[in-house]
Amino acid sequence: MAGEDKARILIIEDEDALRESLKINLKKQGFKVLTAADGETGLEKALNKSPDLVLLDVMLPGMDGFSLVNALRKHSDVPVLILSARTSELDRIVGLESGADDYLIKPFSVGELIARVRALLRRTQRVTVRDRLEAGPLQLDLVSRQATLRGKPLSLSPREFSLLAELIRHQGAVLSRDLLLSRVWGMDYMGDPRTVDVHVRWLREKIEDNPSQPRFIRTVRGVGYRFVPGEEAEDADEEV
Ligand code: CA
Repeated sequence: MAGEDKARILIIEDEDALRESLKINLKKQGFKVLTAADGETGLEKALNKSPDLVLLDVMLPGMDGFSLVNALRKHSDVPVLILSARTSELDRIVGLESGADDYLIKPFSVGELIARVRALLRRTQRVTVRDRLEAGPLQLDLVSRQATLRGKPLSLSPREFSLLAELIRHQGAVLSRDLLLSRVWGMDYMGDPRTVDVHVRWLREKIEDNPSQPRFIRTVRGVGYRFVPGEEAEDADEEV
């Protein structure tokens, strides 16, 4: 699912706290997030900002969620995941008269939401393979296979580039050595998982300010590695 983690999600939700919480959690998962607090703004952004998926509250000031989907469907087939506070709306949603693709009844867990979002993105295959990856100050051009850090070109071997791309694509997630080995070196590669460690060390020397206290490529002891784009402090469960 190349590029899945960079899908753009539009949240249309008038409840400030919920909208912000959704935004934070989706961003944590690597999604790009747009927001709208009312139906009219939401429809305008859904039509003009080409999101990959819309999270849509039903009860909105002004234009409600159902009217919004009706209007949206005249111009767009973007997948819509309805967020409904009331099970009484369920029949209408499930009947898909609404034109929505899926629904969640509030309250829902973040895990459930993320799972539905990913499933819907996969199902509707609207995820485009993008030719660039970005993570904080790092940029990777997947066509020319050039990487830059704070605008300065990095000199990476083809394998280092692929490894960094794989880590960035799944930023925030813990990737095991075996998984990285199969994805970066190929399914048939019979090498030692420590090959991954060696390449990670080389990569750290090129991208980290302090390779012995890495900020981007974190070691998750006994498992593998996790790419962290921001400058947040290391989690307690990680050691370098
Ligand atoms: Ca609402």
